[in-house]
Amino acid sequence: MTNNDPGVARALAAAGPPPGMAIFQLPTGTYETPAALAFQGGSFRDRRQFAATAVLVQHPEGDVLIDAGFGAQAEEHIRMLPSFRRSPHHLGSTVSEQLDAAGYDRTRLSGVILTHSHWDHVSGLDSLDVPILVTDEELRYADHNRGDRVFRRVAAGHDVRGYSFDGPAHLGFPASHDLHGDGSVVIVPAPGHTTGSVVVLVTVRPDQRFAFIGDLAWQLEGVTHRVQRPLLMRILADSDSARIRQDLARVTALSPYMQIVPAHDARGYDGIPLLVPGRTTSRAS
Ligand SMILES: [Zn+2]
Repeated sequence: MTNNDPGVARALAAAGPPPGMAIFQLPTGTYETPAALAFQGGSFRDRRQFAATAVLVQHPEGDVLIDAGFGAQAEEHIRMLPSFRRSPHHLGSTVSEQLDAAGYDRTRLSGVILTHSHWDHVSGLDSLDVPILVTDEELRYADHNRGDRVFRRVAAGHDVRGYSFDGPAHLGFPASHDLHGDGSVVIVPAPGHTTGSVVVLVTVRPDQRFAFIGDLAWQLEGVTHRVQRPLLMRILADSDSARIRQDLARVTALSPYMQIVPAHDARGYDGIPLLVPGRTTSRAS
């Protein structure tokens, strides 16, 4: 890892993660998509298993999840989608089941940050009674998104907390929201896939940094080869493909400094431990 951009190095050095932070991946299942539909240049013979994986970020001031994976009612959620969006899938344990199996203290969980409101990121909210942290713009998007009604179904009854980008430009992105005020979890706008999509930048330790980029790219090739989705999928799935191009360039520029995690690429989560009993950090008090 080479830190050769002084501006980036300065911004990274400003993050002050407290002792006691930890990060875990909670894979909840997969759904199959040909690489040809995932990124330009992909093959139809190359069938990718898209991950539906949530991430738990532990912080002394309150833990957060990033996205929620498949929920207990995922089959019903899939039936709510237009038929062209359904594909062969495998359902594993939900986030809720994994938290319980690990003996996790739910009172530590302060909210779920959504990278965006599509069904495969929010389905697991059906069995999580925690606040939903989402941009006001994404709430407007979800209100008008006719093809995906799952968010409206699972968000009902939750404390939905809109937030705004009240912080300065950050690592090439035009604005930011620093969740804990210490630079450990910083959310930046990336409104290309949906109009309120975000990237979540997490610093667990100075040598352990991640960019959770949601669906900015569906597979790592989107970042490593800087290729967008194929034209048809851009038309069907994206709100602003010029903005995606710009944000992919920003994320690629960050890749020497941090692990880039496209939500649906299992390879992106390499090295992030699974949540198993006894692995969560104890509460600082
Ligand atoms: Zn997705």
